[in-house]
Amino acid sequence: MSQCERLENCPFYLEKMADMPAMASVYKNQFCLKDFSQCARLMVLKQKGPEAVPLDLFPNQIERAKEILQE
Ligand code: SF4
Repeated sequence: MSQCERLENCPFYLEKMADMPAMASVYKNQFCLKDFSQCARLMVLKQKGPEAVPLDLFPNQIERAKEILQE
């Protein structure tokens, strides 16, 4: 099964979700291990670089990602 290339080092899990493993698992199963091309974080990262990705940007926040990309 393919997974996001960033999963091992994604700050969202290493920092933001570190103490919320149940919720982290939901996002991982929906995005990182499945539809990672739909991940808002990956979208910003690919176009603006890792520094442009807010720690609190959730994978499902596509609209927020689009706003960041327009800044
Ligand atoms: S949250 Fe997004 S960028 Fe991070 S590992 Fe999952 S799919 Fe990749």
